[in-house]
Amino acid sequence: MHSHTTASDGALSPRELVRLAARHHVRVLAVTDHDSTDGLPEAIEEAARHGIEIVPGLEINTDVPGAEIHVLGYYVDWPAEWFQAFLREQRAERVARVHRIVERLTELGMPLTADEVFAICREGSPGRPHVAQAMVNRGYVRSVREAFDRWLRADGPANVPRRRLTPVEAVAVIRRAGGVPVLAHPGLANRDEMIPELVAAGLAGIETYYPEHSAAQIQAYRQMCERLRLVATGGSDYHGSHTGRPATLGSAHVPVDAWEDLKRKAQELREQARRLAGPATKPDQQAYEPEPRAPEPHQ
Ligand code: AMP
Ligand code: ZN
Ligand code: FE
Ligand code: FE
Repeated sequence: MHSHTTASDGALSPRELVRLAARHHVRVLAVTDHDSTDGLPEAIEEAARHGIEIVPGLEINTDVPGAEIHVLGYYVDWPAEWFQAFLREQRAERVARVHRIVERLTELGMPLTADEVFAICREGSPGRPHVAQAMVNRGYVRSVREAFDRWLRADGPANVPRRRLTPVEAVAVIRRAGGVPVLAHPGLANRDEMIPELVAAGLAGIETYYPEHSAAQIQAYRQMCERLRLVATGGSDYHGSHTGRPATLGSAHVPVDAWEDLKRKAQELREQARRLAGPATKPDQQAYEPEPRAPEPHQ
């Protein structure tokens, strides 16, 4: 329920990803590219040939002091024009951020041009993995991993924060698009104290089953989900084998219940979103209450 393609920073095209998923006996695959849904049509088309179910999704990365919070959005109304305009703005900020990061690296004695980064990214959503690869190509570091560990990590000397959304805003925009916002890999973010605030903003799930979560973390997030009535999702966050990350596709064991719960939650939130989009005079507090039944038509 978490994977990336060439539409953002994954190594495989959507078609190749789905074919690999089929070989790994994945039955349900969420494609969750960073700030892009451009991989979905091809993934859906290929999945139909393999009897694989595609969950439409995306991932929005945000920065907080000293750390970053990633928010997954599932079953959003992604073809909506306003939502695609929003994603284009997100990607424009990614392009601007690459310029800021290469300036920073140049100041740090590692000259690099934005064009070198964009040549690696091609049609994807530019981000630090592409910068990291450009640094490897220049010989500044031996691996993408080293580029992150030494320079590009959240509090690293060459990281430059985004100028876009707060985590709360990322949750809100996914809700506005009728989707299910899920906190991605909280074990990596190390900001669990933010969870109540995110839940108040409409967070509906926590990515619990994740290759880099320990058994104790999985248990703790599962219990947190039960307590807060959130969906416990999970996935490998597969990007391809080039990233130096351990997870292979299908390696996170996600119970099929998680997908059932996610679909149910999506349905519930869509109904709420429809009510929110109702008459503008309706006070917000009523938006989460059941719709009054329409009067019977006169005979
Ligand atoms: P960005 O899009 O600039 O926020 O970069 C986020 C992406 O960087 C993640 O989705 C991962 O693909 C990658 N990434 C983050 N940390 C690491 C790391 N330590 N090693 C390799 N890749 C990483
Ligand atoms: Zn990524
Ligand atoms: Fe992430
Ligand atoms: Fe991811």
